[in-house]
Amino acid sequence: MKPFELDFKNLADHAPVLIWVSNTEWDCMYVNLRWCSFTGQTKEEALGSGWRNALSENDLLTVTNAAKQMQESQQPFEVEFRLRRNDGKYRWMNCHAIPHISASGEFLGYIGTCVENHKEHLLREQTVKQEKRLSKLYEKTPALMQSIDANGTLLSVSDSWLEHFGYSRADVIGRKLTDFLTKESSRDAAVQMELFRSRGHCENIGLQYLTGDGRVREINLNAIAETDFHSQFVRSTAVLEDVTEARKSLRKLQQTRLAFDQSGEAIFWLSLEGKITDANQQACESLGYTIDELMTLSVWDIDPNESRGNWEQAEWQETFAKSKTFRSTHQKKNGLQIPVEVNAKLINVDGESFIIGLVRDLSEDLRHDYEFSHTKRRLEEALRSGNIGLWDWDMQSGVVSYSAEWKTQVGLPTDCTIDGYEEWEKRVHPDDKDQAVLRLQNYLNGKTDGYISIFRFKHEDGSYRWIRAQGRVFYDADERPERMIGVHVDMTDQKLAQIELREKTAELEAIFNASPDLFFRTDRDGLIQDCRVSSEAIFPQPEDGYIGHKIQSLVSSDVAIDYNHAYTNLSNTGQSQTIEYRMRINGDQVWHQAVLVKFHKTSVAIFIRDITDRKSSELDLIKRTRELERSNDDLDRFAYVASHDLKSPLRGIQHLTKWIREDSEGKLPETCNDHLKRLDEQVTRMQSLLDDLLQYSRAGRVRVAVEAIDLQEMFDEIVGLIQPPPMAKIQLHNDGIDLLTGRAPLFHVLLNLIENALKYHNRDDPNIHVRVTETSDLEYVQFEVSDDGPGIPSEHQKQIFEMFQRLDTSVSGTGMGLAVVRRVIEARGGTIELVSQPGQGSQFYFTWPSMRDLPENDFDDDKQR
Ligand code: ADP
Repeated sequence: MKPFELDFKNLADHAPVLIWVSNTEWDCMYVNLRWCSFTGQTKEEALGSGWRNALSENDLLTVTNAAKQMQESQQPFEVEFRLRRNDGKYRWMNCHAIPHISASGEFLGYIGTCVENHKEHLLREQTVKQEKRLSKLYEKTPALMQSIDANGTLLSVSDSWLEHFGYSRADVIGRKLTDFLTKESSRDAAVQMELFRSRGHCENIGLQYLTGDGRVREINLNAIAETDFHSQFVRSTAVLEDVTEARKSLRKLQQTRLAFDQSGEAIFWLSLEGKITDANQQACESLGYTIDELMTLSVWDIDPNESRGNWEQAEWQETFAKSKTFRSTHQKKNGLQIPVEVNAKLINVDGESFIIGLVRDLSEDLRHDYEFSHTKRRLEEALRSGNIGLWDWDMQSGVVSYSAEWKTQVGLPTDCTIDGYEEWEKRVHPDDKDQAVLRLQNYLNGKTDGYISIFRFKHEDGSYRWIRAQGRVFYDADERPERMIGVHVDMTDQKLAQIELREKTAELEAIFNASPDLFFRTDRDGLIQDCRVSSEAIFPQPEDGYIGHKIQSLVSSDVAIDYNHAYTNLSNTGQSQTIEYRMRINGDQVWHQAVLVKFHKTSVAIFIRDITDRKSSELDLIKRTRELERSNDDLDRFAYVASHDLKSPLRGIQHLTKWIREDSEGKLPETCNDHLKRLDEQVTRMQSLLDDLLQYSRAGRVRVAVEAIDLQEMFDEIVGLIQPPPMAKIQLHNDGIDLLTGRAPLFHVLLNLIENALKYHNRDDPNIHVRVTETSDLEYVQFEVSDDGPGIPSEHQKQIFEMFQRLDTSVSGTGMGLAVVRRVIEARGGTIELVSQPGQGSQFYFTWPSMRDLPENDFDDDKQR
């Protein structure tokens, strides 16, 4: 043995580990002492293949296999096997071998060490077994479980996990957990992971997992972290709970609760003992309690009609077995009571019974009911007063109901029963029937938008009334016509008025068309909108016709001004305006009279008439009147001049005859004296003729001061002046009329008439009456002077009022009396007339102004003459 070998053996024998050396054929070449003391083998027993005897038979194959492999690869190796200890017990050893290479590099075999690791091995074996069992358990657990590593990679999942989400294990293991989450949850998971790392656990994390077929599941996750020896996160194991259904139910529950709370009705849950166990928001609001307050109450605390006694009776439950609706009263927290309708039912859920009460507040309904009936009554009244009949046709049953007013319209008693469509059809006038039925059908077939029809409708008394029918179809939920409701309005009066109006209009039109007037319709400013041109009235016509031109533009500028005035006055006063103007048309002077009348609201109707003829005769008349006036004036002037100027030569003649008589005192023969006397008489007569003439000419011109007239006094003075015969009777009849007028003219008129009555009387006992009476015209009074004399034949009655007209020449007179009387009266606006029949006396009637003398404007000064 070489010294090195000795050293090695010495060292090896004392080492605390088992050491062996083998050749390439696994024959043992050496074992150390520790081997021998451990196994109880002698070195010799161990050499060669003897070492195998110390090995457990169970591991022999393992070791042999490992040895074979190593022989080929010549690599170091490690193997565990059981070695029989010297007490016969096998111990697990950890054997480590390295190739034994010679200095020349030759592979000589192996040198190995064996260290007992029996306890560790058993522990490890147990752990592995445990782990295997655990992982089996893990895989087979009905819980959804998953493990991930620090990167979020799935290490393992339970079978139920795979089944639940619809994946195979191969799909899952090694993939990132986030591949199985919705996008949103992936983000959540990342956040949660951070928290989880720091805390080491997490509870109730909500994540959304995606299933293999793309559905989303709501998952509730609880996880714990596993850390290594250095507290480094190794993996996490989580238990998952699928809460999708639970969430759904929860949501449903929440919705139900919301609906329950939001439902318009108050809902109470009652225990069988009548205690309120729950109530919705409406219930709380309607009674003014909080939910907590309500839950301390019983049903009789909120419903005065309920009592504890009722609820204790055995049979009460039966009353609620079927849902029961009744009216009651609920008392609010503030003591107010409200009318309610309760629908209560006994309900059994999962063996637990309770009562649900749905309560509706009727206060509003009752108010609506009241308002509805009120409105209905008002509607009925309106229909009645408007003479509107109502019909309601149920189109599916064919029944028609007719309102009381409908029946009244046709003269039927309101309580009679009629309900057929034929009732309507049979009453429509034969001439109107086709169109009435057609209109109805057209409406029902959708050809027209509405149904309105006017027809004659038979009344019970046989007459026909004009009816306007109007109606509308109402459709049911399936868009089928359900009913048609309509009205009948009796419009006979309007219709007759309309017919009359139409006839009248036609008549008027005919008259209008026949009238010679030219007609224009213009706007308020004169713009012509319409015209009717007659052949007789002419008006300047523009080439493009009248319409669209202003009437003012068709006439001369001064006539246009007249029109403008007329338009302004018309619009200011609303009164029709008449203007007359002259214009030149086709070289002729034409007179027009235009009447402007308001027409409708914004128009003006103008009737233009050619008044040229009338105007020229009017002008003629004016001319002639003027001439007449002038000749009258001339006559007046002549009469005045003649009477005035002729009087002085007459006075001269009178003086001359007087002087002749004085000079020829008794010298002239009797005949000459006679002639002189007659000459005197003629001159006197001539003088009185001239006086009367002068009086006549002044009669209408001389104005006198007015004074209060005492008629009786004036009458007495006249009678005194006349000195009537003794048998004569002259009377004044005045019923208190006072006059304020010129005295002298009235005195003159009365004196003349009374004088005439006496002068021309044919008896010694004349009866003369003077009467004063009021007239309808307050300005004048009427005088009557009547006598019972011979009267005046009718053919002379006009004549006596003319100048120098006398009927009876046996009496002295000039025939000027009545002429002057008439002139005096007429100058004051009065009139005089005579009523007389021969043999029956005469009555002179004249009117006289009661408060003035000559009218102001008729006053004509003497100086003008
Ligand atoms: P005179 O001035 O001459 O009286 P009047 O003009 O007064 O003339 O009368 C004209 C005529 O009317 C008289 O001539 C007389 O014949 C007739 N006459 C007037 N008054 C009456 C009378 N009251 N009754 C009958 N005849 C009368």
